[in-house]
Amino acid sequence: MREWEKNIRQVVPYVPGEQPNMPDMIKLNTNENPYPPAPGVLQAMEEFNTDKLRLYPDPTSKILVNVLADYYNVESDQVFVGVGSDDVLSMAFLTFFNSDKPILFPDITYSFYDVWANLYKIPYETPVLDENLRIKREDYYKENGGVIIANPNAPTSICEDLSFIRDILDHNQRSIVIVDEAYIDFGGTSAMELIKEYDNLLVVQTFSKSRSMAGMRIGYAIGHPELIKALNNVKYSFNSYTMNLPSLSLGAEAVKDDLYFKECIKKIINTRDNVTKELQELGFLLPESKANFIFATHKYIPAIELFTILRDHNIFVRYFNKPRIDNYLRITIGTDEEMKMLLEFLKDYVGNYKG
Ligand SMILES: *Cc1c(COP(=O)(O)O)cnc(C)c1O
Repeated sequence: MREWEKNIRQVVPYVPGEQPNMPDMIKLNTNENPYPPAPGVLQAMEEFNTDKLRLYPDPTSKILVNVLADYYNVESDQVFVGVGSDDVLSMAFLTFFNSDKPILFPDITYSFYDVWANLYKIPYETPVLDENLRIKREDYYKENGGVIIANPNAPTSICEDLSFIRDILDHNQRSIVIVDEAYIDFGGTSAMELIKEYDNLLVVQTFSKSRSMAGMRIGYAIGHPELIKALNNVKYSFNSYTMNLPSLSLGAEAVKDDLYFKECIKKIINTRDNVTKELQELGFLLPESKANFIFATHKYIPAIELFTILRDHNIFVRYFNKPRIDNYLRITIGTDEEMKMLLEFLKDYVGNYKG
């Protein structure tokens, strides 16, 4: 071993879903939105003056922060924006989880949480989900250095109601509770309305799923002004200009078109509910999804086999080779047409299955 090798920070990175790029593929593996961003985003893109790129963007991200503050009916000092919610969550871990006590999050959840905890050397414990893949609230009643819960949870798609979140908050008044709401727009109730009551609550959302802008990288957190100030202090100790100029103006346009947003979500929910019924008829079992994906296991066909055969036919879904969930597929809700092709393939495969 060379002398300097011992000085290298060794981390096990998060592994994102693959981004294949093939003609005619059906891409249902990373929970992207199958519909384009709002028309106003396209227009702003076309009208974007590239001469402005000479200058640094506004470090306070004012236009985007103000639009989000208006939309959620909060003050602008309650909004923090970042480069996708991954950036926002990573800053939040660094800012708020600075205790010797372990932070808590479920054993099965967004697999970035333990990566950040390890990167920042934050101690953590991962209470196990129950046999129905539900979070057991009592596990979060003990002393801790912070709590993070994805709601709806990923990759289970299960959403808990507001009384559940309130209960977690009531039992954790001495630590900061982060609710990662990447999928909340697809039918859940946001904890946003609890922010007035709980100054230790941080709600994190993203433009990547419900707003069709994964490629733009925009995420945000809403909470008490003191939490937002602390996040900004860390951000300014790191990189003052996290948000690039196009993402600020295009992001603001996306939020302004609420009608388009709601229509888009309605379509996805409708497709999801139809696909759920059809999969059940084919022998799949799945919890009720409140996300833009479903988490399905088949009664007798192993998930790895389905994953592989689908992939061979250019249909990409997500498979996690992890204890307790290695017999499930996470399937993103695409357009009706894409889902029809998936279902037709599965109908044929299940119908002719010999084991
Ligand atoms: C997709 C996702 C995110 C992050 O998405 P960004 O594209 O970085 O905004 C965060 N949390 C969960 C649970 C997700 O599924």
